[in-house]
Amino acid sequence: MAVSPLLWTLFLFSVIFSIQSYSEEEEDTPITRFQQYLRFNTAHPNPNYTAPISFLLDQARSIGLTSRTIEFVHGKPVLLLTWLGSNLNLPSILFNSHLDSVPAESEKWIHPPFSAQRTVDGHIYARGAQDDKCIGVQYLEAIRNLKSRGFVPLRTIHISYVPEEEIGGFDGMMKFAASLEFRELNLGFVMDEGQASPGDEFRVFYAERTPWHLVIRAEGIPGHGAKLYDNSAMENLMKSVELISKFRETQFDLVKAGKAANSEVISVNPAYLKAGTPSTTGFVMNMQPSEAEVGYDIRLPPMADPVAMKKRIAEEWAPSIRNMTYTIEEKGKLADQLGRPIMTLTNGSNPWWSIFKQAIEATGGKLAKPEILISSTDSRFIRTLGIPVLGFSPMINTPILVHDHNEFLKDTVFMKGIGVYESVISALSSFEGISDQVI
Ligand SMILES: [Zn+2]
Repeated sequence: MAVSPLLWTLFLFSVIFSIQSYSEEEEDTPITRFQQYLRFNTAHPNPNYTAPISFLLDQARSIGLTSRTIEFVHGKPVLLLTWLGSNLNLPSILFNSHLDSVPAESEKWIHPPFSAQRTVDGHIYARGAQDDKCIGVQYLEAIRNLKSRGFVPLRTIHISYVPEEEIGGFDGMMKFAASLEFRELNLGFVMDEGQASPGDEFRVFYAERTPWHLVIRAEGIPGHGAKLYDNSAMENLMKSVELISKFRETQFDLVKAGKAANSEVISVNPAYLKAGTPSTTGFVMNMQPSEAEVGYDIRLPPMADPVAMKKRIAEEWAPSIRNMTYTIEEKGKLADQLGRPIMTLTNGSNPWWSIFKQAIEATGGKLAKPEILISSTDSRFIRTLGIPVLGFSPMINTPILVHDHNEFLKDTVFMKGIGVYESVISALSSFEGISDQVI
């Protein structure tokens, strides 16, 4: 029987297609495992925590790690995986990552944000590819490789997967770090997420800035829009706004002059202004209002002096003699229980730093000057306890796409990161010395 060319072509297509789908199904590599993890939609406001946790539990089982799931808040689980060390008296080390991610506007992406599509040039597109599902999988792949080589850690290694980081960590790491379970881990050192580096040096973060929300309110005598008089609410508030803008300039000048990084100065940015007497068409224009208000987002690096800052606010920015009041909502601490600035030392006095640095260099990698993170992560809850934490995600030659459209990570960068963690995990877990004096 003669087969028409059309049927023949269709037959060939179906063979090729079935081979392709067969190979995709059967493949089980670090890259496909990364893609699988990326495909769970863990974006807010409704992150799916159940499916990724069962995936991670499968991975842990296949590698031979013990696991524990703890729910400090119902429906918001913390997953803890453990590889016991040979010396249980030594403080352990923790590798943390968060399960959740920020939302993605899928119509603005070139590939669907939870498809984890890998392009011909090796880019894997997904929300969370950089922030921070990469490290969540790399930790496991590095341990898988170390185990297959017969490596035995001296210190116990824990890996934690926490929920809710992207919305402040209050029902995630904050509760975990305050728990008995956390204290019982007896941690000596922690690694958490960092950020991509567009250049060829790895970035590492030793501290974060603490946000303050400052609201200043001014009151004054109301009056006719045509009248010139002193001490109106708006006039008082505008005086403050000018002073604050000057302070902002002095800080920004340091950055512009190259004397400090953006994250090393105190940033003060206006968030809102509220004033005026509303009318049906907008605002009443022939009235000077009796109240006015401004809100600022302030970020303080750990070396900033909070007492001096509060004095400045009370005496210059919102003085009661100009009929002003203010509130400061401190969203974190600048100092730990012993009054020390909340930052991890990156010099020879911190043995963990030296080991980490050497472990990076052993892979042929270079570290950029350690930085303060411009925003905040879960690390702050751990540093507050006096435990040293470095923020690190091994992504070089990669554009910074956290929370951006078309977030991706290149397959080769992901694979190299596994090797970096093999070096880091083996070095840190082999450290025999005393370490509990540092932050
Ligand atoms: Zn993150």
